[in-house]
Amino acid sequence: MDFELPEEYRAFRDTVRRWVDKEAPKDWARALEKDEHNYPFALWDKFTEAGFHGVGISEAYDGQGGDVVMQMLLARELARSLGGLAWIWGITSFAGSKSIGLYGSAEQKREFLPRIATGQLKAAIAFTEPGGGTDLVGAMATTAERVDGGWVLNGEKIWSSSAHVADYLLVIARSDRTAEKKHQGLTLFWVPTTTAGVNITPLAKLGMRSMGSCSVHFDSAFVPDTLVLGEPHKAWYMLLPTLNNERIMVGAFCLGVIDGVLEDAVDYMKQRKAFGGVIGRFQSLQHYAADIATMQKTTELMLHYCADKQSRGENVGVEANMLKLMASENANAAADMGIQIMGGMGYSAETDMQRYWRDSRLWRIGPITNEMVRNGIAESLSLPRSF
Ligand SMILES: Cc1cc2nc3c(=O)[nH]c(=O)nc-3n(C[C@H](O)[C@H](O)[C@H](O)COP(=O)(O)OP(=O)(O)OC[C@H]3O[C@@H](n4cnc5c(N)ncnc54)[C@H](O)[C@@H]3O)c2cc1C
Repeated sequence: MDFELPEEYRAFRDTVRRWVDKEAPKDWARALEKDEHNYPFALWDKFTEAGFHGVGISEAYDGQGGDVVMQMLLARELARSLGGLAWIWGITSFAGSKSIGLYGSAEQKREFLPRIATGQLKAAIAFTEPGGGTDLVGAMATTAERVDGGWVLNGEKIWSSSAHVADYLLVIARSDRTAEKKHQGLTLFWVPTTTAGVNITPLAKLGMRSMGSCSVHFDSAFVPDTLVLGEPHKAWYMLLPTLNNERIMVGAFCLGVIDGVLEDAVDYMKQRKAFGGVIGRFQSLQHYAADIATMQKTTELMLHYCADKQSRGENVGVEANMLKLMASENANAAADMGIQIMGGMGYSAETDMQRYWRDSRLWRIGPITNEMVRNGIAESLSLPRSF
């Protein structure tokens, strides 16, 4: 049993940490985040220069190599300063490199992976529909009709993050309406955002404002057969094995937020004065800091456990659900306590606590709600499915 990261991983983590402090400090992240109308292209370009888009993509496709542990470390370090904006890196990494890498044909990999690895291609995920995200397949009304040489998409997606600046959308649609079960007859498409009939509109929201989350309308949008990912009608079965990875990445983003919260809270406690001394001497505030530090350590242990198991190809399904649940609840609770510790300044747009709180609030809802995650954990205890 070894709870320490191997040297190679520690070196990578330390390099990213130094990079974040120099290239993506909190002040800059705060300024970028609040600008709802401007996607942070400068941040994307810095990721490109640093080679981060290539982490997790093999050198054969111009990537940097690296496994899920490496991606977890990168996600955590980015989120310490960037909070939810770390997802600027994560979306393309997940929607692009993961999906093309797993389901893409040899030709699709050759065409798209080098462009993703070198920051030339942005991707977005368009799965959720206005009719429902939790019951995604039950509510799915977007259809793909077979036509000569490809498919025609019609329907609407919602909350597709960064779709307004993306080059490609990873879309799931109902391709066989006669399928017996709702999980069957679904196909994954890799849709250029320049396709005629694809209309994208940003939505106003609470956090990660500059990232932009959008509604996407497909109005008879033609997608050629060459842009179908994997086998038609089998999308759901292809996606299931990737869910653990997604949960681990969310766990890493949440832990990064806890890191950022703790360092800001302790700093403030050492500087801010009340009743003739620093507020850090008050036991009630020390207890908040102790709780945040405990959340940090327990989340880290669970995250490292899941990433390590996943990288060794072991089944980590239930634990990855537990990680997502615990990490997102911890991150949001930590940010909430951070605001309390800083008083009015924690609520101010001048400091980062409010940003950490707003951003981490999402991870209790997406990419899957914590109620649904609890359902999965409960089922693993041989309890009946509740829905
Ligand atoms: C800022 C933001 C960014 C997002 N980015 C993306 C993106 O890039 N791509 C994308 O495809 N989607 C994205 N999403 C969508 C996100 O994944 C969904 O919001 C999420 O899956 C929940 O779906 P819903 O919002 O439709 O909630 P609903 O499914 O309507 O759920 C409403 C409530 O009912 C509860 N509920 C539903 N079913 C059950 C059940 N069986 N048991 C117990 N409780 C239940 C839920 O837990 C929740 O509390 C994003 C969302 C937001 C807010």
